[in-house]
Amino acid sequence: MKTFKSILEFQKEFSTEEKCREYLEQQRWNGTPACPFCGSLNVCRFKNGKIFKCREKGCRAKFSVTVGTIYENSKLPLTKWFLATYILSVHSKGISSLQLATWLGVTQKTAWFLNHRIRVMLTNNAPELLEGIVEVDECYIGGLESNKHKSKRKVRGGVSSKTMVIGAIQRNGKVRTKVIPKTDIENVGKVIEEFVAPESTMVTDTHHAYNKVGLKYKHKKINHQNEEYVRTEDIKVHTQSIEGYWNILRKQLDGIHHSVSPKHLQRYCNENAFRFNNREAFQDERFATALANCNGRLKYEELTSNEEK
Ligand SMILES: [Zn+2]
Repeated sequence: MKTFKSILEFQKEFSTEEKCREYLEQQRWNGTPACPFCGSLNVCRFKNGKIFKCREKGCRAKFSVTVGTIYENSKLPLTKWFLATYILSVHSKGISSLQLATWLGVTQKTAWFLNHRIRVMLTNNAPELLEGIVEVDECYIGGLESNKHKSKRKVRGGVSSKTMVIGAIQRNGKVRTKVIPKTDIENVGKVIEEFVAPESTMVTDTHHAYNKVGLKYKHKKINHQNEEYVRTEDIKVHTQSIEGYWNILRKQLDGIHHSVSPKHLQRYCNENAFRFNNREAFQDERFATALANCNGRLKYEELTSNEEK
């Protein structure tokens, strides 16, 4: 594994396409190339170093290390992809597409697309269940409707349409978040059971939607309405870890991206959770973790359909 502790060292390690490819080959194949079409290891490398050919009868496919990854068919060089992945996985608050465009020397449209595709890479597809003491809370994301252009306002009965996110955090551990359409018993219950292991202690505020699912856990409630913030029992009953996390998330969404459409919010949440959950990992480890998820692609049409942007 390559080691680097700063952006300067990173750029030295990944200064050319060859160096990026070499790293990707190591990451994807552990150094032993495999045909992405039939899985055979009986392959040979062409002289240019970039293209392989499968020797298997009936396959004979030609391929490079990027086939089947988000880099496939991309016009952008790997050096730029890698740098963008590095910035998103390491930089504490992420980066706006405007800023990324300047850094990489690409158009803002390209940077916007790049940002979203890397967010998919930062999504943990096999998260573990949270256990022990788990704080659960909901958060409302969205700017004031009056700040938006008239044509984009979605006022329903005079109430602004904020997007709801529910989150759970294991004390001193990982966070998981999900955008939900409504904070009702059904939505809240479903997500909590998906996030939190049975037998865990769940700490929430007194929102009624937690009561039903609370029966499946050791449920402790803190009454913010009575100005109660910490109560000492056999454990410290509070929701300060998850509230602290909401501050981090809000800072990114307000400070960097200003407004995020509800359609994309889950990806921003995933990006943020990635950095939070890997907060103790070194830069090179975070980058390797992000890159390990480069399989599969997110198409431009999927991103932009029904999108006001
Ligand atoms: Zn093959």
